[in-house]
Amino acid sequence: RDPELDASYEANELAAKFYHYLLNNSAQGQEAKAYLIERGLNGRLIDEFTIGFAPESWDTLSRFLQSRGYEPELLEKAGLLSAKNDGSGHVDRFRARIMFPIRAKDGKICGFAGRVMDDSKPKYLNTPETKLFAKSKLLYQLHSARAVFRKKRSAVLFEGYMDVIKAWSAGVKNGIAAMGTALTDDHAALLSREVDEVILCYDGDDAGQAAAMKSIPILEKVGLKALIAILPKGMDPDEHITRFGAETFIREVMEHPVSVTKFKLLYSRRNHTLLGEEGRRNYVMEAVGIVAELDSRTEQEIYLKELSREFELSLESLKQDCHGIWSERQKSRPDRDKNDISWNNGRNET
Ligand code: ATP
Ligand code: MN
Ligand code: MN
Ligand code: MN
Repeated sequence: RDPELDASYEANELAAKFYHYLLNNSAQGQEAKAYLIERGLNGRLIDEFTIGFAPESWDTLSRFLQSRGYEPELLEKAGLLSAKNDGSGHVDRFRARIMFPIRAKDGKICGFAGRVMDDSKPKYLNTPETKLFAKSKLLYQLHSARAVFRKKRSAVLFEGYMDVIKAWSAGVKNGIAAMGTALTDDHAALLSREVDEVILCYDGDDAGQAAAMKSIPILEKVGLKALIAILPKGMDPDEHITRFGAETFIREVMEHPVSVTKFKLLYSRRNHTLLGEEGRRNYVMEAVGIVAELDSRTEQEIYLKELSREFELSLESLKQDCHGIWSERQKSRPDRDKNDISWNNGRNET
């Protein structure tokens, strides 16, 4: 056991309770609460997720935790206070922000994401990387989603905290999110132990779609099946639920995730103008390349048939091209294995 680590967890737990208390009971907190309700949350959700408020103050948290016996140095290591530049002491790290506690896998609070209530930057401020708070290994709500993972063997990955909370209130209890960063290999490894598939439910803007493209190979590398839930252009899950309601979100977004191939085809389509001959040709060739990533000839044929119909091309020639690309890739596979670093390392070590 590491007593300093234990004390850091305790301090974060206490801070979460304090922030939550201030949201519900302070004058400044009323504004924060009104903001959250305006965004579609309610008192029950605010309690469930222990959402809180860090007041506009340099020392409110600092004074409270020091009165409970915590030293500023420890609170800095716990990520709750920042050292002043001139070395003259510490200040509260989070000021005038809505506070979302982040829990480790075992449910212990290990840090926070703090959101401003206006357009100032940064929109979210996280706990700094500490012994407790390693962003690349943390997933928001993992501790509670795990119960559902066991039953469903499926996870839904959102971009943001608000998306997870709103989706949870709409009935999606296996939703999680990364800490405002890209999905990492560690995240994927973590998930692969508990689920068989991950449904990506990212924002319906360019950034969200690009992030989905990046997450797909990371999930596939560890043997997870990826599916993609598509949001209307420019909308995120949080906005979708506020605007159309829970039922519509479930029915129109969550119940119809598309396959990786279908998503890649849609993604490629957006980058080509299908009005001109040049754009159509480029899209078809790129599409055939995407379909050639599938190993099943039957699955390939399903997509090729669609292309053949839409672009009035013979299925035979599409199949030939597709299989040509597929076999070329097969040939280059052994080479890739030969250069595999981990394989070489294994040999060199003995
Ligand atoms: P909100 O979360 O209030 O609904 P949003 O949907 O506009 O805001 P996005 O810009 O889509 O937020 O960002 C997606 C998610 O990425 C956020 O919900 C948050 O989890 C994270 N994020 C955004 N900006 C930052 C930042 N500056 N630092 C850390 N994480 C961030
Ligand atoms: Mn976004
Ligand atoms: Mn968003
Ligand atoms: Mn949002």
